[in-house]
Amino acid sequence: MVSRLIPVDPFDLVIFGGTGDLARRKILPGLFRRFCSGQMPEGSQIVGAARTELSDDEYRQMVSDAVAEFGGGRACEEGTLDAFLKTVSYVTTDAKGDGGWVELHGKMRDATVRAFYFSVAPSLFGDLAERLHRFGLATPDSRIVLEKPFGHDLATAKALNATLAQHFNETQIYRIDHYLGKETVQNLMAVRFGNMLFEPLWNAQYVDHIQITVAETVGVGGRGSYYDKSGAMRDMVQNHLMQLLCLIAMEPPAKFEPDAVRDEKLKVIRALEPVDWHHIVRGQYGAGDNGPSYREDVEDPKSRTESFIAMKCHISNWRWAGTPFYLRTGKRLKARASEIAVVFKDAPHSIFGADAGRHRNVLAIRLQPNEGMTLDVTIKEPGPGGMRLVDVPLDMSFADALGPEAEEVPDAYERLIMDVIRGNQTLFMRGDEVEAAWAWTDPLIEGWQARHDVPKTYDPGSSGPEDALMLMHRDGRKWREVKA
Ligand code: NAP
Repeated sequence: MVSRLIPVDPFDLVIFGGTGDLARRKILPGLFRRFCSGQMPEGSQIVGAARTELSDDEYRQMVSDAVAEFGGGRACEEGTLDAFLKTVSYVTTDAKGDGGWVELHGKMRDATVRAFYFSVAPSLFGDLAERLHRFGLATPDSRIVLEKPFGHDLATAKALNATLAQHFNETQIYRIDHYLGKETVQNLMAVRFGNMLFEPLWNAQYVDHIQITVAETVGVGGRGSYYDKSGAMRDMVQNHLMQLLCLIAMEPPAKFEPDAVRDEKLKVIRALEPVDWHHIVRGQYGAGDNGPSYREDVEDPKSRTESFIAMKCHISNWRWAGTPFYLRTGKRLKARASEIAVVFKDAPHSIFGADAGRHRNVLAIRLQPNEGMTLDVTIKEPGPGGMRLVDVPLDMSFADALGPEAEEVPDAYERLIMDVIRGNQTLFMRGDEVEAAWAWTDPLIEGWQARHDVPKTYDPGSSGPEDALMLMHRDGRKWREVKA
């Protein structure tokens, strides 16, 4: 299978925060891989911007080191890195000052797509947006790319959106949720809306429940002070899990176009029922053999922030009335694994009798590791001795199905940056989506704060607190195993 490579138009991409962690780990290596694949056209340039004083050559060395460390080892023709580095330059710029802006303006060209990546703390977004206008860098067609977090709650998200709206139209604002750039997440839409097989069954009549799990093995690490103000709800559920929920639950959009898709996602968020607090389990990892506890990590022995959350939600609409959606995410769990599992109902009648046991079709969509899908199908257990049933997976690993081409599949950041250059907002969050997501999460957070809720401690390397298992057991269901 040969993947088609569609080059984008030549562009000027300014990375504010070009010396930061995200730029070095994701953005710059991602751009290099696109260059290496031939998708970044001649005449494009990348300009790093931050306060640190660096010459162009010193910045190129930083970029070269980042590509060596985080580039993913993709084989490129000899000389490719040198050619890529020639497209890179650096301007010392302060988002809060006036230095560097005139020089940056001098680098912009008229006939190219202009994009500004805000890879800096959200507190600087307003300053950058204002200066891009004041110094004449922003054109009506320029794009800005923003990293999460988009606010801390509904009020701050609204304030941020309002600040940006003073300087840019919504069509110019690209809010990144890198989960939407993952190959499997987009495949979710292809599977749902490109096949006849699933969509007729994709509703409360046939689906027993849906599980979404995003499990990490790492703790909060060096992000402790940020994470402790945020927690799993704000850091993961309000954005990543919510986006996955939307794609699983939304109605088919009329077209695969940005606002058609985003309108449908918004309807899902708005149809989410408030969650009963009995249906939320919050956890915090304790100390283990290979690491300190959450409270030690964040250096607050009384912290009540959750590093794990499990919850049961309902969507009030015709398609999903009565079907529970179980969401779960956490740190220091037994495996790094993300998956969505659609668990179908039992067949209405078993012709094989009670001895055949209970069998259910499960469509599991793996986001990581080993992106792919599995469909559990019930068959006869091979061999003599009557009709015994067994569930076997029809397993489609994209790496196996697509062969070496799968190696070339761009990672989420690569794909999303190219979409920014193309001007395609389908995989980016609209302001009203972000606000609707906060409007749903805010009362839950306020609820546990008012109750002085203390998260349950769980063992690192486990599947989370016992109460999370009980959340399912009470309903006669169980979580799928968290396994890599
Ligand atoms: P970081 O490592 O702390 O880098 C911040 C960058 O901003 C540095 O390049 C810094 O360079 C620059 N900066 C700080 N103050 C500035 C100012 N006044 N004017 C111009 N530049 C300034 O942070 P990061 O991890 O890269 O994160 C960047 C953004 O992405 C944050 O909003 C973060 O929440 C988000 N994010 C990061 C990740 C990740 O994996 N790292 C993942 C998701 C979202 P100087 O000090 O030289 O100015």
